[in-house]
Amino acid sequence: MQPTGELHIGNYLGALANFVELARTHDCLFCVVDQHALTADHDPATLHAKTLEVAIGYLAAGIDPARSIVFVQSDVPEHTELAWYLATVTQFGELGRMTQFKDKSDTQTQNVNAALFTYPVLMAADILLYKATLVPVGEDQVQHLELARDVAHRFNTRFGEVFPLPKPRLSASARIMGTDGLRKMSKSIGNHIGMFDDESVVAAKLKHAFTDPQRQRRTDPGRPEICNMYRIHTAVTGTDALATVETGCRRAAIGCGDCKKILADSLSRRLAPIRERARELRARPVYVREVLADGASRARALARKTLGEVREHLGLARHASELAE
Ligand code: SF4
Repeated sequence: MQPTGELHIGNYLGALANFVELARTHDCLFCVVDQHALTADHDPATLHAKTLEVAIGYLAAGIDPARSIVFVQSDVPEHTELAWYLATVTQFGELGRMTQFKDKSDTQTQNVNAALFTYPVLMAADILLYKATLVPVGEDQVQHLELARDVAHRFNTRFGEVFPLPKPRLSASARIMGTDGLRKMSKSIGNHIGMFDDESVVAAKLKHAFTDPQRQRRTDPGRPEICNMYRIHTAVTGTDALATVETGCRRAAIGCGDCKKILADSLSRRLAPIRERARELRARPVYVREVLADGASRARALARKTLGEVREHLGLARHASELAE
């Protein structure tokens, strides 16, 4: 995850909850990709605090740093070194076809920098450096993951087998829209519900959230399948209450206000313990930094091993070892 702003329930339900589930059964690395955040205008004075806040989000959501490796991208310089090598087997045309590059170059017109263009190569390095086989991604990152697979395959074919081809793992609730019901949830748009918002703030944001426009009056039957509120319900509300919401909406037996109250309760049950753990972690900044330092050291041990193989396959290893002597 990028440290671009406050974590919201779209991040949690679309990604973090998936991370926690994956970490129970797999050997995982979770990285805060602070170098990716540099591709947009950013404030150096707040980047570090935002980076720590995402790390706190990982830990508070339930990622166990004793079992998984939790670290910050810029603490492991091997990412950018591998990105350079991978860039040599990435075609200009491939990067030009990336939808996210086209979207971002349309929105940040004053800063269409080269790193925005090569961003997917650094993302490929983030994945391939650890020989990852499974990557939890949102729908908007699937194209980048496909590029990582193509780049890995090309490298293996040209220079010899180094990388396994990573597969995507999509979250069941990958597409949570914002409270406007139109665009993906995002703090910069202001259509978000913060992961750490107080209950009163969540209730206030839900009150004005977009629902099925067909329900003009309480007596109008609704269509849960097109309502973003229902989509969030499916990720946080238990089976019985969910069935009540669904049939109640279709038969106009419950109003949108009642439905949102049930949703606010479900969110509160799910997020209150996470909010509490985040509060405790914010009070222990030294511990959080120690977790990240330990994570970086474990990540670097793996990264150096892969980079050694990559250099050797590229014909760089001999010169590097001679310099070290
Ligand atoms: Fe959406 Fe709930 Fe209203 Fe149905 S009752 S339209 S699911 S907010």
